[in-house]
Amino acid sequence: MALIVQKYGGTSVGSVERIREVAKRVQSCHRQGHRLVVVVSAMAGETNRLLDLARKVAARPSERESDALVASGEQVSAALLALALQDLGVKASSFLGHQVRISTDSAFGRARIRSINKERLLAALNHGTVAVVAGFQGVDNDDNITTLGRGGSDTTGVALAAALSADLCEIYTDVDGVYTSDPRIVPHARKLDRISFDEMLELSSLGAKVLQIRSVEFAKRYNVPVHVRSSFTDNQGTFVVQEDKPMEDILVSGVAYDRDQAKITLLRVPDRPGLAARLFGPIAGAGIVVDMIIQNASADGTTDLTFTVPRGDFDKALSLVKSQESMIGAHGVATDTNVAKVSIVGLGMRSHAGVAARMFDVLAAEGINIQMISTSEIKISVVVDEKYAELAVRALHDAFVAPRPGDEARQGSTP
Ligand code: ADP
Ligand code: ASP
Ligand code: MG
Repeated sequence: MALIVQKYGGTSVGSVERIREVAKRVQSCHRQGHRLVVVVSAMAGETNRLLDLARKVAARPSERESDALVASGEQVSAALLALALQDLGVKASSFLGHQVRISTDSAFGRARIRSINKERLLAALNHGTVAVVAGFQGVDNDDNITTLGRGGSDTTGVALAAALSADLCEIYTDVDGVYTSDPRIVPHARKLDRISFDEMLELSSLGAKVLQIRSVEFAKRYNVPVHVRSSFTDNQGTFVVQEDKPMEDILVSGVAYDRDQAKITLLRVPDRPGLAARLFGPIAGAGIVVDMIIQNASADGTTDLTFTVPRGDFDKALSLVKSQESMIGAHGVATDTNVAKVSIVGLGMRSHAGVAARMFDVLAAEGINIQMISTSEIKISVVVDEKYAELAVRALHDAFVAPRPGDEARQGSTP
């Protein structure tokens, strides 16, 4: 008899029929004698609908009220699933974040879980009750409702699995598992049977939204066995696991893309110590995460300084830059919100040279201009014009992951 945490995403609970299907799946697992905690997302589209409502009543909705509003989406689906289970004769109770007591910090809209009280959930499980938990939400020290960022129900699921020392955390979604690239963009992407925590961390942070990055951080830190699978089939999905030797031989295991990018360039900034600190200090202070930064020294003692931020933070970042522009002595600011980041990820890059050069060749052959580049041990990312993002993803997938028959390139080959 195992303790299993199951998490169902928005599409999986997207209609009354889907909620009934989920209830049947939960029932059959419960009948096998397992103890079950089930985490649910809001019904598909609901979080966006609620955010739109907020924008209709307020030009700049406050973060505290926005969280109180969007958390209601998960309240509805948790109660509906508990009702559907009861209708099947399964004992079930729903729990909101504050009822479990999932304590978070007070960073509304992107709160981090600090601690989880297991007592109420364990009491329910000990009575043979299925605990249905509203994903995505928590409560801060002052009892304010908080939310964990888009896709945050994944994190609720994995964090609960860690806190309860669950035997397994199943993430049920609308695809069969983690693929070598987004199957909606690359139709011949392959499902991976296994992926390492570190590759999954990179893929999540580079735009593959199948798992929220913080859920992978929890899984890695607490060694939670995570199985990503479809709620529409019984097929085995993808296990996210510790890396092992065979994984290191795979040069590129995934290609990711992220359209949520905007680029800001300060033109002809004087080449003096301290200016970067003066520029990026206030941006960090506003909670904006700067991604890539490039700075080119030029002969006349000035330099262009370019960086990227998430598109949602673009307006805020730009106004901070403009407020510093004259103090820094820049000769203007240029912006571009039509950019995307495309990345390749693989443990094999640690031990293979020339991967970046080959990546640039592939993009050049498609006539795609590279605007920025960043690398780490197991990934290479480039910023390109947004209109070429999908083409770039497909070309890189063909070249590195799943060569078409007849291509010379082979997975794992040294370039
Ligand atoms: P849920 O509502 O179940 O949380 P999400 O929409 O958040 O589901 O995440 C699943 C989606 O992630 C898939 O429908 C797919 O389009 C997208 N996705 C992006 N990259 C990948 C990938 N490498 N593997 C699988 N899915 C991916
Ligand atoms: N409902 C939230 C969202 O749409 C959380 C989640 O689905 O994981 O982002
Ligand atoms: Mg999701």
